[in-house]
Parts: sequence; structure tokens; C-alpha cells
Amino acid sequence: MLEVDVRRQLAGFKLDVSLRFDVGVTAILGPSGAGKSTLLRLISGLDRPDEGSIRLGNQVWFDSEQNKELDVRHRQVGMMFQHPRLLNHMDVLSNVELGVRDEQSYEDVVKLTGVEPLILRPVASLSGGEKQRVMLARALAGKPKVLLLDEPFTGLDQVSRRELLNRLARVLPTVKIPILFVTHAFDEAARLARHFVHLSAGQVISSGSAEEVLGGIAPGVDIERAGERGPDLPVDAHEAATSSLISGEVVALEASGLARIKVGGQSVDAPAGNFSVGDRVYLRLWARDVVLSPLPGRQLSARNSLAGRIETLEQLNNGQVMVRIAVEGEAISALVMAQTVKDLRLEQGKPVFVIFKSTALDLSMVVEDAVARKTSKSKPKEVSDETSADQVIE
Ligand code: ADP
Repeated sequence: MLEVDVRRQLAGFKLDVSLRFDVGVTAILGPSGAGKSTLLRLISGLDRPDEGSIRLGNQVWFDSEQNKELDVRHRQVGMMFQHPRLLNHMDVLSNVELGVRDEQSYEDVVKLTGVEPLILRPVASLSGGEKQRVMLARALAGKPKVLLLDEPFTGLDQVSRRELLNRLARVLPTVKIPILFVTHAFDEAARLARHFVHLSAGQVISSGSAEEVLGGIAPGVDIERAGERGPDLPVDAHEAATSSLISGEVVALEASGLARIKVGGQSVDAPAGNFSVGDRVYLRLWARDVVLSPLPGRQLSARNSLAGRIETLEQLNNGQVMVRIAVEGEAISALVMAQTVKDLRLEQGKPVFVIFKSTALDLSMVVEDAVARKTSKSKPKEVSDETSADQVIE
């Protein structure tokens, strides 16, 4: 467990956060200037908090009250930056060796990260995605206690980005340490992380599961726009900006451009985007786009009608009601007028149909990539590599 409770004043900006990071990947989301990189610099020791503490388990990395500070070199932090910081005139082997703690960690890590075929290549000849893999190998070869990834996909083309995303999705779960992944792309966050922190203007806006954090962030795949819906919005606007994440698995792709997503025992049609059959995905649905009905929606232009049960009704102070409906173990929010609640006799515990258009799903993200899953299954050698690397890195 990495515990960070820090204050840092910079020109016109103050970071003030208190966060705990468990083993596994936590995505740090937020618009430019939110303080994401500053937070990573404080953890790595490249910058110093004005006040507060940073602890990894029992080890104090920084404590302003006790006047303690552990040197950067002794924190054992592995890092990947926006742009790979490698020695371009040297080959991959020499670059990875710079991070190495012992031979064993080196061999396992080289296989795990897929840099083995590149090992004698000069770094200058590598693509952006390959360089990032070398960065990853070098970081892991140092047997880090914490791994910090600061927007490692910056500047990569779509193919390299997908390859690196798939690689990280396979490698990171084998590394049993706290991993902080800074990004402003929802799909990257959803794919790699299970814990999320939303930072804005140096403050934590929310932290927790995908549903808790991603569900509440403004529209658009890029979180840059989230700043437009900052904490100063009036309450009703916040409520209108409430959304739910529905998770499911792509079971069919139709020629019409729709994907059929299995959600528990029911299904939803969503724009196919770049989904593949077998992908596990999140779909986001805004509360204001949901229609409720006691009957299944048939012969409507809205293609989706999910059966659920009303869990709670929350009266808002603007004549509206936020209704939360349990659907296949997921919670879907619907914003309706108080009069509608009366007219339809919506009550806690009652069955109801949640109806929405496919086009209302404004964000669809792959959580687990079917293609990558198949590739890793068809290569048993790599699976055993991951197991051994696991033992080394843990
Ligand atoms: P993010 O990574 O979320 O884009 P940063 O942590 O890079 O945000 O920056 C947060 C704020 O701190 C910005 O306003 C930035 O201008 C400021 N800042 C970052 N580093 C410094 C520095 N070394 N000196 C002064 N201000 C800085």
C-alpha cells in the first residue's frame, strides 16, 4: 500500500491530495494542468512536497513533520514517461541493463515485455511503441516497488497504441506492486485499471471503481473536456450529468454497424466502433437519456429495452427524480420528472424497463480485448514466462 498525503504550491497552482494506492493499476485521470505529473514527481522523489507524507508500507519516503526524506535512488520507483528516455546511441540490451538488479529479473523481464527480438537493435532504429516497450523492460528490470506510467501512449499511432495497450494489459497484472497510470483517455484507463482517481485543479474530485469515477465524468472520450463541468456547476446540472456504466461482452457484429452486447441474460445494441467479438466492454449511458416504462419498449426507434427493478428514488430540488434501477447486477440511473414517477407509479422494488437509443451510448470502451486474450492463450510459452516473472518481481 502506497499512502500519499501531500501539499505542493507551484506558481498559480496548488496540489493538495490524500490518496492510498493498493497493489494493481490505478488510473489517474484529469485535464491538462490537473496536477497528475506533479503527483508522480512527488512520489518518485524528483520533486519534494511542501508538507505531508509519502509511505510505502512501513517505509517512510517522505515526512515533513519527522523531517525525513528517502533519496530517489532508494525508492525503487520504475517509470515510463510520455516520451521514452533512452540512450539512443546504445542498443536495447545496454539500455535494459541500466535498470537491472539481477540476471534473473533481466531474463524474465525481457521475455515478458516482448523486447527479446529487439535486444541487439540500436535504440535509434526502433519505433515509438518499441521504445516504450524497452522503457517498460528497463523499469521492471529494476524490480520496482512502485511503477509510475505518465501517459506512455503519447505520440503513438493507433496500431502501436493498441499493441502497447495489449502488452501492458498482459504484463501489468503480473507485477504485484502499486502502479499509477496517468492518462486522459477513458479507454486506456478502463482497459488497464480497476481503480480510478479523477484529479482536477490539484484536488481529488472522486476516487474508486470505474462506475464511481468514470460514470460521473463529462462526455467525450477525452477527459480534457471534463474541466468544463467542474465542481462549480449548479446541482441540477450535476444531476443531469449523471451517467451509468454498463458492462458486457460483444457477442455479434452486424453489417449495419451495430454490436450486440450481452449484459447478463439480456442484450444491448451499441455502435460497433472498433469492437471485436469477445471483447469485454463498458458502455456509458446518461441518466437524462433513459426512458422508463412498465412495459418493454417495442416498435420504438429506441433499440434497447432492459428489464430491471427500481432500487431507489431520489427527489431532487428541481421537480426531478433520480431513479436507480438494478439491471443484471448493474445500477442504471434514470432522470425523470416527479410527475412521471406519479403517473407511472414508480416505486422502490417495482419492475421497470429501462429504454434507450443505441446512439445514447456516448462512450464505449474495451476493458478486455478478445484478440489479445486469444493471442496470449495460443502462446503457452509466454504464459509460463509471465509466471516466472511474477515470482521475480513480486
Ligand atoms: P498535468 O500532469 O495534470 O497536466 P502538471 O502536474 O504537469 O499537470 O501541472 C500542474 C500545474 O502545475 C500546471 O499549472 C503547471 O503549469 C504547474 N507546474 C508544473 N510544474 C511546475 C514547475 N516546475 N514550476 C511551476 N509550475 C509548475
